[in-house]
Amino acid sequence: MIPFVDLRAAHAEVADEVRQGFDRVLLNTSFVQGPDVAAFEEEFAAFSGVPHCVGAGNGTDAIELALRACLTPPPHTDVTPSEVILPANTFVATAEAVIRAGLRPVLADCDDEYLLLDPEAAASAVGPDTAAIIPVHLYGQQAPMAAVHDLATRHGLAVVEDAAQSQGSGQAGRPPVGLAATSFYPGKNLGAYGEAGAVLTSSPALARAIRLLTGHGSEVKYQHETLGFNSRLDTLQAVVLRAKLKRLAHWNDLRRAAADRYATLLSGIEGIRLPQTAPGNLHVWHLYVIRVPERDKVLAGLQDAGIQAQIHYPVPIHLQPAFRHLGHTPGDFPTTEKAATEILSLPLHPHLTPTHQEQIAETLSTLL
Ligand SMILES: *Cc1c(COP(=O)(O)O)cnc(C)c1O
Repeated sequence: MIPFVDLRAAHAEVADEVRQGFDRVLLNTSFVQGPDVAAFEEEFAAFSGVPHCVGAGNGTDAIELALRACLTPPPHTDVTPSEVILPANTFVATAEAVIRAGLRPVLADCDDEYLLLDPEAAASAVGPDTAAIIPVHLYGQQAPMAAVHDLATRHGLAVVEDAAQSQGSGQAGRPPVGLAATSFYPGKNLGAYGEAGAVLTSSPALARAIRLLTGHGSEVKYQHETLGFNSRLDTLQAVVLRAKLKRLAHWNDLRRAAADRYATLLSGIEGIRLPQTAPGNLHVWHLYVIRVPERDKVLAGLQDAGIQAQIHYPVPIHLQPAFRHLGHTPGDFPTTEKAATEILSLPLHPHLTPTHQEQIAETLSTLL
């Protein structure tokens, strides 16, 4: 059996530190907003090269909070929904967060090479009600940020980066991060032991606004400036994240080494399209997504051989029943739709062994 991720091996590396940290929290009972939360926020901001980090309950909340802080008045006032452009090729949470923030998602197709938001498709989606754009750093590499910022500047749009899959990634020559949301779901490159997320921002005013929203709109206990949420980063999760953050750069290096090894092992197999890194991108390989013909047959063959491959994501957002009200039909985003029939995520994590990768390559060569 070759698992898709190995959270047990990751835990083994941090087990002592996590246990000591848990003991500390249990002893001083600082379960909510304990000192480890503030410490993690500082450490993750420094790691990301962004001045401010505000912890949140999960990544979907983090996107919603970021949107609310930069766009909408407090939730009790009526506003006509502004539009937010996002890629059709993303996890459903990106679109969910937009709707939950009282905004209207407008989808744009991806490019065929990297499966990231296509800036030209995004430009065609801009209308009089467009207020923001969410580039998604899918699979571990950043969307084309210079082009996204050009578009945003031309039309006065806010930019909220969905960085759930890209902790530790980079892009040469990109504009600095203004506002970004991330997720520490257990399987992400930096994963908690439950739900957790965060917003990164260069703006002290936005950081304060987001912090208010995470804790009932209150900075001083029982004084509520605005309506908010209860979406804080849990102290026990902060302990886990602090321990794992110390290893993240190394773990991302191991992911890159594994990706390079796949590229060598799979390059000789006809029919496989290997994932590409866009020029200037430092990829952190949250997912290793190949494209194959007869994908469902190949996936079944891998599963029969005990290899846990997956699909990210099998049904694009615009074809999901939950988004029927957006009024889309098959054919609206052809590149995303075609990719959805071909993509296959192979196991890739810091503890994946070369032997397992060779077995995966060998099995694939018999299936194609
Ligand atoms: C995981 C993920 C999210 C949501 O994060 P949660 O912590 O699960 O709420 C949002 N966007 C993308 C691209 C993700 O991969």
